[in-house]
Amino acid sequence: MNSFRFYNPTALYYGKGQIESHLAEEVTRYGKRVLLVYGGGSIKRNGLYDKVQHILADAGVTLFELSGVEPNPRLTTVHKGIDICHSENIDLILAVGGGSVLDCAKAIAMGAKYDGDVWDIYQRRGQATDALPLGTILTLAATGSEMNAGGVITNWETKEKLGGGSPYTFPKFSFCDPENTYTVPQDQTVYGACDMLAHCFEHYFHPTHHTPLQQHLIEAVIKTIVEHTKAALDNPHDYDARETLMYCSTMALNGMISMGINGDWACHAIEHEISAIYDIPHGGGLAIIFPQWMEHTKNVNPTRFATLATNVFGVDGAGKTDAELADIAIAKVRAFYQEIGAPQHLADYQIGDDQLERMASQAVRFGEIGNFKKLNKDDVFAILQASL
Ligand code: NAP
Ligand code: FE
Repeated sequence: MNSFRFYNPTALYYGKGQIESHLAEEVTRYGKRVLLVYGGGSIKRNGLYDKVQHILADAGVTLFELSGVEPNPRLTTVHKGIDICHSENIDLILAVGGGSVLDCAKAIAMGAKYDGDVWDIYQRRGQATDALPLGTILTLAATGSEMNAGGVITNWETKEKLGGGSPYTFPKFSFCDPENTYTVPQDQTVYGACDMLAHCFEHYFHPTHHTPLQQHLIEAVIKTIVEHTKAALDNPHDYDARETLMYCSTMALNGMISMGINGDWACHAIEHEISAIYDIPHGGGLAIIFPQWMEHTKNVNPTRFATLATNVFGVDGAGKTDAELADIAIAKVRAFYQEIGAPQHLADYQIGDDQLERMASQAVRFGEIGNFKKLNKDDVFAILQASL
């Protein structure tokens, strides 16, 4: 384990009835002029928009709106939000939606207080020095954005999708009511499971010695996702299944399983290049890339894969080498993706080989990626090619 400092200031309100009991109190702590940020309309269709509006109107809050945040949120939308913050003197940004809405709101929050174009921060040419306060109401279990400071923004003009954040972009508060995920469609439920699973893998595969607690915490989250996703797909109104997935998504990327670990993150970097050009769902891209990345890197430390097979998938390791167990672990991961109907090949999104070279070079634009194994452009190209 590496030495580490842990910091996470987000107040979490988990479960039923929390919005009714605590939203007004949390919001008005920061002021009465609020920018409500949301996506393409799911919150209008499932009643959450009306609920939030009523609660905040009763609390004397003036709401301004930025709607239409895209899945894979775009810089142009971030700029619109920043303009509203400036022109309307906004006190708090309230993001209601999935990871895209939350990430867009984080970019707006940083950008509203940044002297220059917020895109600088994502390009690693500038750093946030402050941000407007931000609160969230999560509607999709996937990213963990509700309890971390990061976000991912797409510059559609330049076809770049980059992650960024700052100590100022932790949400001040997040409301996570599993009932708000009942209407998440099957495909997005699958992508969400793939994303949270990917966040676990990014932490499981790292170059540092595994400490027992950290290893078992990550294994527990992986095992829980694998065991419970199907139930949410079979019955979208299964409260326990939705709650379990929501809790897994938060735990997978709020810092709890990354203490003392220098995670890998190569698959996320590669997936962002695919989304940047083809605008595919993040979790779908990860489900395609991860097994190929595993094949490409398994020889670095087969024991890490072997423990995945035995501790998570319950494989009897007796008489088997770590290399054999590694192959079994990868097969189990593939079988899970297959069971839940995740995409397996880039061809599933009609993606051919014409942009592989560009995606590979872009993925390493800041240098080699990954920590479990450092990947150069040729490695990324090979992984992408194997994913076709
Ligand atoms: P999303 O892009 O926020 O949402 C996907 C779709 O689900 C949207 O069409 C949305 O519709 C719909 N949806 C959301 N909640 C719904 C509900 N309750 N009922 C019905 N439909 C609902 O999906 P996401 O997977 O949460 O976020 C993906 C983005 O997050 C990607 O850009 C990814 O790169 C990024 N990401 C961020 C982090 C992080 O730590 N910040 C980590 C991993 C990935 P509406 O637009 O109509 O609401
Ligand atoms: Fe992710």
